[in-house]
Amino acid sequence: MAGIHLDDVTHRYQGSDAVAVDTLNLDIADGEFLVLVGPSGCGKSTTLRMLAGLESVEQGHIYIGDKDVTDLPPTKRDVAMVFQNYALYPNMTVAENMGFALRNAGVPKSERKAKVAEAARMLDLEQLLHRKPARLSGGQRQRVAMGRAIVRHPKVFCMDEPLSNLDAKLRVSTRSQIAALQRRLGVTTMYVTHDQVEAMTMGDRVAVLNGGKLQQADTPRALYDD
Ligand code: ADP
Ligand code: ADP
Repeated sequence: MAGIHLDDVTHRYQGSDAVAVDTLNLDIADGEFLVLVGPSGCGKSTTLRMLAGLESVEQGHIYIGDKDVTDLPPTKRDVAMVFQNYALYPNMTVAENMGFALRNAGVPKSERKAKVAEAARMLDLEQLLHRKPARLSGGQRQRVAMGRAIVRHPKVFCMDEPLSNLDAKLRVSTRSQIAALQRRLGVTTMYVTHDQVEAMTMGDRVAVLNGGKLQQADTPRALYDD
């Protein structure tokens, strides 16, 4: 079980008077796909980064499953993150990029190979394992970033605008690929976007942030009917 519980979570950036995320309370069920949406600057990335352990929590607590992870480093949380710019290592091949975190975690080579191969199969990357990122298309890079996250079988999957660097046509097909992959893996997911269409089509539930505060959280259907 790895639901997420954000309990009165607050973040203020150093040197800033304004609160970026303000006493946020949000529960995400085990296996749920939650989309966090709202205008630029409303606190989406900050929330996601606190969940991943990349920003500190000034007040409040974050739980993953039964575990209070508020003060744990990113590597101790079982959270995988896909960034907007993919952040692939340019000198490593696709396979090396995908296997890197496993290697750091001391996973033996044979097991790494099997896990990388499994993720490559799911993401249709099997023919590209020996390429460097510079020789990949935007869509292929995006899939490698996804692959690098899923090889670890994380409890929680965090995505920060993962489609914003793709052209409009590719964005549509990738939307459904990501949603299908999430369902297949059943991994609890927080997905950040400012795109209303992504919010209304991809997730089980949509949480709307404004000025660092939660405005509402409901199914796309219920929000649409409002
Ligand atoms: P969103 O992801 O919704 O665009 P962010 O979480 O990035 O919003 O930002 C929330 C607020 O925090 C904004 O007012 C933004 O300007 C501010 N902010 C973000 N990053 C920093 C930073 N590194 N230092 C100071 N303020 C920041
Ligand atoms: P090492 O990391 O010991 O230098 P390799 O260069 O063979 O070993 O592999 C780098 C990473 O990519 C490892 O995590 C490995 O498991 C994975 N890998 C390499 N080639 C493949 C492949 N063809 N199929 C699946 N995984 C691979």
